[in-house]
Amino acid sequence: MHEISIAGAIIDSVLDAARRNNAIKVKEVFIEIGELTALNPKQLKFIFETITVGTIAEGATYNIKVMKSLIHCRKCAYNGPIEFYERLHFFLPVIKCPQCDEPEVDIVAGRECCVNKINIR
Ligand SMILES: [Zn+2]
Repeated sequence: MHEISIAGAIIDSVLDAARRNNAIKVKEVFIEIGELTALNPKQLKFIFETITVGTIAEGATYNIKVMKSLIHCRKCAYNGPIEFYERLHFFLPVIKCPQCDEPEVDIVAGRECCVNKINIR
């Protein structure tokens, strides 16, 4: 599953940052995920809680913020979110301009997945 490898990478970077700061405990983790990553925040939280057992991040609180997508269309200069027309049929949204149907759009936001901040002790 997609979530597990991403959650593992996130926790690795959290533990790495915590270690570099001589932390004894990770209390809180702030994460931002773009809606185009198709990550499920609830599932991510569950995986974080599971894989951090026995580490200094065990029992940490996770604040997961889902960031809206933003595209720029080169054809009609549309700037804005993607519309999720096909959501019921496909797991991933079809990326195209909602104004002119152009599939060649620049993704400005929505694919990020990053740790914003961690609170340590
Ligand atoms: Zn367009």
